[in-house]
Amino acid sequence: MAERFDEDALHAVGVRIDAEHPEGIIFDPHQPQLRVTDLSAVRGDGIFETMLAVQGHVRKFSAHLERLQRSAAITDIAIPPHASWRAAVELGLEEFRTRGGLPDELAVRITASRGVDGEPASDDPAYSGTYWALLTPVSEKVKKSRGRPISVTLLDRGYDSTASERAPWLLLGAKTLSYAVNMAALRWAVAHGHDDVIFTTSDGYVLEGPVSSILLGHRTSDGQVQLMTPSAEAGILPGTTQATIFRAAEQAGWKTSAGPVTIADLHAAQFLWLTGSVKLVSPIGRIDDHEVAVDAELTSALLEFLTQSG
Ligand code: PLP
Repeated sequence: MAERFDEDALHAVGVRIDAEHPEGIIFDPHQPQLRVTDLSAVRGDGIFETMLAVQGHVRKFSAHLERLQRSAAITDIAIPPHASWRAAVELGLEEFRTRGGLPDELAVRITASRGVDGEPASDDPAYSGTYWALLTPVSEKVKKSRGRPISVTLLDRGYDSTASERAPWLLLGAKTLSYAVNMAALRWAVAHGHDDVIFTTSDGYVLEGPVSSILLGHRTSDGQVQLMTPSAEAGILPGTTQATIFRAAEQAGWKTSAGPVTIADLHAAQFLWLTGSVKLVSPIGRIDDHEVAVDAELTSALLEFLTQSG
């Protein structure tokens, strides 16, 4: 049975947050924890963030908590204060230390579920749902994949570029637990010989990957580098990795912009990357049947921006 699991996942640590334990309480993630009536299990009705902790330091924790708060506002899910999440994650890190070793890298996933329908977990609205953090060592496979060129396929997300404004109930731009479509798209990509996906709208605009943001890059003849990304108004998740890269790039004198990106813009781009908190930066070497140039130096610079920013 155990061999079905990723070895690293066996060493995961869980921390629950509730009204009695606002600073968290450790649980064993390999034992049942969730009621079958919890709306996260029944309807995928919850929100989450995945962060990277390097040597026990959670990168861009504030940006992730702000995005969780934004997802909470969009979905109308009550969440504990930021201090609770920080304390719970710290407790999880401490658990690794007392067990005899903090892995060099952990994926830290924090989740807030609407809870059990009609049975708030507490009278205090901030603790009325179900909340937990899960800390899992980052696998060697993921670490090795960083910076390596990937092949992507363009997949139609099935709505047009006005959907986000027209249909707020679609929750576009919130990081909800409803990732079945994103995972199906990734399986589709793998079944068709690709590593990842770029979602597009039905009217030809570029959105994001199922678990990542997309960056376009140009190096002008005078050596100036320009980065571009689709703006959040497109109904995509505002990427914290993309934002960190852009801030550092601006400080390095590069030009950055966010705006509508068409499929034609994508094909005209000199360089392309997918970015995310745990996988960091993946240069795109192929989109469907088209080869894309890869610049190892620029990719290293993007990775370095993330390291510098802590
Ligand atoms: N877009 C989607 C849909 C995602 O799921 C993610 C991360 O999981 C991202 C973008 C990248 O966000 P971040 O850089 O904050 O990890």
